[in-house]
Amino acid sequence: MSALPRSVKLLIAGATLLGIGCVAIRVPQIATWDLTDILAVLLIASLTIVTERNSIPLRHGSETVNFALTDGVWAGALLLVSPSVLTVSVLLGVGVGQAWNRWKPYKIAYNVSQFLIGITLAEAAFAILGVWGDGPTDPVMWLAVLGAMYVSFAVNATAIMLVVSMVEGTSFLAVFRLPLSLNVVHWLGNMALGLLAALLWTLEPIALVLMVAPVALTFSTYRRWVESIRERDQMRDLYEAGRALSGPLASDDDFGGFLSLLEKLLPADRVELVLVEGNRVAVHASAGVRHLLVEDADTAPLEAFVAVRSGVSPQIAMVGDGQDVRGVLAVYRAQVLTATERLLLDGLADQIAVRLQDHRLFGTALERARLSEIVSHTSDGVFVVDTRGRITTWNPAMEALSGFSERQAVGQRCDDVLGLDRDSFFFQDDAGDGEPRDTWVHTRDGDKQVRLRTSVIRDEEGAPPARIAVVRDAGEEARAEQIKRDFVSMVSHELRTPLTPLKGFLLSLVEGTVEDSAEKRQEYYRIMLRQAQRLERTVNDMLDVSQIEAGGLVIDLQPVPLDHVLTRLVREFRQQHPERTVRMSDVGRSAVVMADPFRVEQVVLNLLSNADKYTPADLPISVSAVPIGDQATISVRDRGEGIPSEHRDRIFDRFYRVTEGDGPRRQGSGLGLYIARTLVEAMGGRIWVYSDVGVGTTFSFSLPVVDLAIVGEAEAHELPGEPFRPVLVRG
Ligand code: ADP
Repeated sequence: MSALPRSVKLLIAGATLLGIGCVAIRVPQIATWDLTDILAVLLIASLTIVTERNSIPLRHGSETVNFALTDGVWAGALLLVSPSVLTVSVLLGVGVGQAWNRWKPYKIAYNVSQFLIGITLAEAAFAILGVWGDGPTDPVMWLAVLGAMYVSFAVNATAIMLVVSMVEGTSFLAVFRLPLSLNVVHWLGNMALGLLAALLWTLEPIALVLMVAPVALTFSTYRRWVESIRERDQMRDLYEAGRALSGPLASDDDFGGFLSLLEKLLPADRVELVLVEGNRVAVHASAGVRHLLVEDADTAPLEAFVAVRSGVSPQIAMVGDGQDVRGVLAVYRAQVLTATERLLLDGLADQIAVRLQDHRLFGTALERARLSEIVSHTSDGVFVVDTRGRITTWNPAMEALSGFSERQAVGQRCDDVLGLDRDSFFFQDDAGDGEPRDTWVHTRDGDKQVRLRTSVIRDEEGAPPARIAVVRDAGEEARAEQIKRDFVSMVSHELRTPLTPLKGFLLSLVEGTVEDSAEKRQEYYRIMLRQAQRLERTVNDMLDVSQIEAGGLVIDLQPVPLDHVLTRLVREFRQQHPERTVRMSDVGRSAVVMADPFRVEQVVLNLLSNADKYTPADLPISVSAVPIGDQATISVRDRGEGIPSEHRDRIFDRFYRVTEGDGPRRQGSGLGLYIARTLVEAMGGRIWVYSDVGVGTTFSFSLPVVDLAIVGEAEAHELPGEPFRPVLVRG
């Protein structure tokens, strides 16, 4: 009762008070009763008990609607006995009948009360309507009974639906709709039977015997009818339960919907599905799932996981064969399951096992699909060799590495394809599993050195073990190693070189071991400044590269007038390199480009300092900017040593430096052109080089020219004083 909503409790209390009132108003009449009245009460109450005990329950949601012949008995009584006799008969009959049925006290109180209210109102209606009739044989009186009992029926139906809708939280009318049609037909039949019995009692009591057969017939018809409704509902629930089980295989953790349907279907207080996997136990119920860790769960009997609750004995069905799937379906219900229900339970348990197995198979298939997806996308060559040395799997990276397609390789002996001997490479010892080995393999373009790592793969079904081999191009690997080494040596060289003169001059100045004239000091400062700048450049380059690699390069695009930028840059460069001749040509006609001004400066400065670095001091460098179509091309030209053709493709690569030749090894990190290329491309341009060894080199890059009409339009919409500054961030 405590679980009932407050409104329901109030409803029960109110009805009970009214019910007591209905009995109280009859007390003066009861005081005048004779023996006939008492016998009449006993008879009507007994009949009520019999009909109540033989009521037919129809479950509706969480509540049960009962069908009984009771109101037929009362209709007859209304015609024959006084209101006080009927009221007391209803009180006794319903109260004892329902107590006997072991209904909960609050339900009995509510039911008795609402019947008392109904019958009291019916008695009042009959008193009014009965004025026009005369005795039980007068059809007018029959109509009066019908009218009066209708009042009782309406009170009764309303009272039940009210409480159902309150408990279930549904709308009152929605609940009312379903059993109403059933109730009306049932009620009319009851009325006819009651009136007939009353008539026979008045005219020829012995003829009542004839009523037994039609009453029994009516009763069994009701029973069949209600049962068929129940069966139909069960079929629907069963269908829903099956559907809940065969639903999408997204998770095997979701049995809530199925279990709550099963609870309704059986019906049971609770249904649990306990699934055991290793020492993990999952207890599923309609409200959700609980996971437990139980030691030795895999060997414990399944019954051990079914909780025992007071008053309800769990009835169980095994799920699965105990090997792949191990579980138990437990039904908590006071009554023992009928044979049909047991069959149903076993059938559903089997269906659960099938679902779980399906889910597992699906999981394995999915896992395999994912694995094969990974293998086909990995940059390492992967292939599988069976015990006979034949290739069974060949991934795209293997194709790229060897030049042999999957079609050419699969089914062939790996000896024939790669020249790898089955015994020495795959099956000579199981212990050497996973150790990488360097070896030569055949490829379409001749032999290639590779690093090979093999391991055993065993199939679950116990098939003979195959070998999986992961292959890497040893040359690639060596190149990667070399790049790493180059980087370390570059960093140590480039950072340390400028530090040595810096520290040397500072030390000499502090210790006073060098000539300390104002002029000389100026010279030392200039040298130190240059070294500091060189350090700064290297550190900046490295920061830029790490930003590029991390995908965090930020480019702030805006219209950039090339002539301004280039003129300023060249002026500054000349100041820093007074001995170098730097010419500017064509810049006057240059355009406005869409670029990041800071990055444009960075690129041009880089090209200028390279030209300076690789060109004898007495030869000039020239800078130009020429708009062609929607691009502007900026070029830096020198008459230096030039770049041998075999290096031209690679000088834009990270760390790449041209080291050969007999010229002195120049300082540098091999990062400048790599950064320049990345920046230019990020701004939507391109960079390239023309070079002739011994003649000179021209580096050029292009940038998109701004359509000035669009800029003008945009500027017109800007707030005064705010420059047009579209921002684009590239990662
Ligand atoms: P570095 O720090 O070595 O200059 P860069 O990436 O700027 O690195 O240049 C890569 C290589 O390209 C240089 O090592 C050099 O050999 C070559 N290079 C660049 N610019 C010129 C040029 N103007 N003349 C000749 N060689 C050049």
